[in-house]
Amino acid sequence: MKKTLFLVFVALFSYQCATVPVTGRKQLSLVSNSELMQMSFDNYKAVLDTSKLSTNKKQVEMLRRVGHRIQKAVEDYMAQNGWSAQLEGYAWEFNLIDEDIVNAWCMPGGKVVFYTGIMPICKDETGVAVVMGHEVAHAVANHGAERMSQGLLQQMGGVALDVALANKPAETRVLFGTAFGVASNLGFMLPYSRLHESEADKMGLIFMAMAGYNPQAAPEFWERMAASSKGAQPPEFMSTHPSHETRIKNLKAQIPEAMKYYKKR
Ligand SMILES: [Zn+2]
Repeated sequence: MKKTLFLVFVALFSYQCATVPVTGRKQLSLVSNSELMQMSFDNYKAVLDTSKLSTNKKQVEMLRRVGHRIQKAVEDYMAQNGWSAQLEGYAWEFNLIDEDIVNAWCMPGGKVVFYTGIMPICKDETGVAVVMGHEVAHAVANHGAERMSQGLLQQMGGVALDVALANKPAETRVLFGTAFGVASNLGFMLPYSRLHESEADKMGLIFMAMAGYNPQAAPEFWERMAASSKGAQPPEFMSTHPSHETRIKNLKAQIPEAMKYYKKR
């Protein structure tokens, strides 16, 4: 037991602590980006291979236009702050899956999926930018990697990802799915914490503003999302993105800061 604890501490201290861009918070990181991205790219391909992609050319083009503009904003923001190395290995992709579920996500390395079911709640291109900025922010802030690290620590004694994959491939894959909130068929999806949500909100506002979308649209999107969740079956998105009364208030408070980036364009 003592030995296990010791190994956990060794694992904790020998791996680099990562730093979240924008907020500067230190986070636990037991997974290397290169390992994680390989897993992410494999999973992304598997999702696309087993899904029906939207044939709505107009919507797909709009989604990709927003995606590329947010990508450019993220790259500019990271370059301006000397953090470009954190985007190494990114291979951005933006796809729209034809399925009536209210959800969207971004896997490590910039692999984005929107489901057609979330498009009416986005309402227009700026609404898509709200979700895109927020989801991409979760990825840029390595929130999934942090959750994956916590999972490896709690469930497998803090082993590294490659060791976990070699010894317990199935469990490790489930851990990945829950950490990134990508696989609804896994049954259980970990909701992002309030801390992760507020970080993604803050960063998302700045990214969308830099991409040329008015950040004032963000609270309106979350109001529409909250209204749509009052039905018998709350949307998928709400199970991974719990909305709290304080969220819209906090978002509104952050808008003046984000507007500085919007006006600079
Ligand atoms: Zn979120």
